[in-house]
Amino acid sequence: MKLIRFGEPGRERPGLLLPDGRRIDASGCGCDYDETFFGSEGLERLARWLADAGATAPVVADDVRLGPPICRPSKIVCVGLNYRDHARESGMAVPEEPVLFFKATTAISGPNDDVIIPRDGTKVDWEVELAVVIGRRATYVERDRALDHVAGYVLHNDYSERSFQLERGGQWVKGKSCDTFAPLGPFLATPDEIRDVHDLHIWLKVNGESKQGSSTCELIFDVPTLVSYVSQFMTLLPGDIISTGTPAGVGLGHTPPRYLVDGDEVELGIDGLGTARQRLRAYR
Ligand code: ZN
Repeated sequence: MKLIRFGEPGRERPGLLLPDGRRIDASGCGCDYDETFFGSEGLERLARWLADAGATAPVVADDVRLGPPICRPSKIVCVGLNYRDHARESGMAVPEEPVLFFKATTAISGPNDDVIIPRDGTKVDWEVELAVVIGRRATYVERDRALDHVAGYVLHNDYSERSFQLERGGQWVKGKSCDTFAPLGPFLATPDEIRDVHDLHIWLKVNGESKQGSSTCELIFDVPTLVSYVSQFMTLLPGDIISTGTPAGVGLGHTPPRYLVDGDEVELGIDGLGTARQRLRAYR
């Protein structure tokens, strides 16, 4: 299944994107895509509802806004420097253990919403990423059981303000957490929709010019390793996100660096997870 949420910001309703491209309202299933939903066999209930009532569910018009495909989760855990090509580009050694950092969940927005350059922001950068959504509470999970804890996958752009991240002291979280810095979607794909999560083309363009193009086969730490690893340090709750890192080609890696300005348009996609498009806007 491909889960969507649609409607005005903060008032989204659950829906599904069907194989024929139609979008339907799944409110009739009686639950939004939150921690309770994922933690209580919600995907199974949704599949049963789709089989029983999907054919008569209201269709969502094409011009209705898409929101993030999940409700705001308890946390977004991000992985730094997790693509071999990105490590080469940065001139950094391949890390011995995953580099983890947090991103505020208030940064989450819809896949095609405007991205706001924060007040005093001068170095806003893009990072196309494969994000994993947790489906079952995970504490000290073994690697070979880790995929049992995954609800699905979603396209994510891990926006960063590099001066906040790297020039203001302390942790990266400052440069990762501005409002609108975590557009998610267009949809959450359940694992059965993805043939091999470690063999997906991943790409990003700025104003139509290709900036990032790689494959999830370049991941240094794969999805089961990351779910298991993070769960050794904290409990992952249903709906939580692990964003698995970005390939080469970020603005910081350009010579000279190329940062985003008001009016720029960013497009991105991952095989099987759809595409998204964001317009940059100055803070007002
Ligand atoms: Zn990132």
